[in-house]
Amino acid sequence: MRKKMVAGNWKMNNTISESLQYLDVIKDKINNNDIDVVFCVPSLNIMKIQDKLENTKISVGCQNMHFEESGAFTGEISAKMLKEAKVQYVIVGHSERRQYFGENDEIVNKKTVQALKHGLTPITCVGETLENREQGITIELVRTQVKVALNNISKDDVVKVILAYEPIWAIGTGVTATSAQAEEVCKEIRKVLTEIYDKETSDKVRILYGGSVNGKNAKELFSMENIDGGLVGGASLKPEFEQVVNYLEGK
Ligand code: PEP
Repeated sequence: MRKKMVAGNWKMNNTISESLQYLDVIKDKINNNDIDVVFCVPSLNIMKIQDKLENTKISVGCQNMHFEESGAFTGEISAKMLKEAKVQYVIVGHSERRQYFGENDEIVNKKTVQALKHGLTPITCVGETLENREQGITIELVRTQVKVALNNISKDDVVKVILAYEPIWAIGTGVTATSAQAEEVCKEIRKVLTEIYDKETSDKVRILYGGSVNGKNAKELFSMENIDGGLVGGASLKPEFEQVVNYLEGK
């Protein structure tokens, strides 16, 4: 059985004081033992948020890191730095990183490998644009993204990776993929994992859906066979996040 997971991606939102205020409202409402919950926060806020979330059920993650160990990479953060800050999760290859910061599948692979090397859990993102979907190349494209992202990652390591299928047209738009659309792609991702590794391994890897998940649609999406939870942007910044985490109680 794969444990469900909800990862909130705060993106470039919330100063330290705003973060602490929001966590005061939400932290004690997140107490569902059946689900892993993480907030991926701006890196400057990590240490304060770690303190705030001590003894709660919420873990802290980062939204990005560099693939090199250390060195002349101005503005970047290394896996070792995150590890020492007791960060467990790191988002890798979010579509905004791909779109605005030139990350490609090879970079996403290097970052995924580097995160694993340092004992971090990568939440590695894939997904198509609306244009790709209209061209009918969604499956082909996502298959390639997954294969390249997992290049040189062993069977033992891949079970530590969390994959997030995020159709770009659904991110921050309020337009959610239907549960059937999301399941179709997540099922295909699991098929690719079986092809690269084997069924036993593939069955262990968690695959999240991301794209305008909210308190109302989470239950239907997360109930699909191959969707093990969500990567949530906008709704993770609001008290509504509680309803996403407690989706089973939803209508
Ligand atoms: C995201 O940031 O990965 C995301 C899915 O955002 P939203 O939930 O706002 O669409």
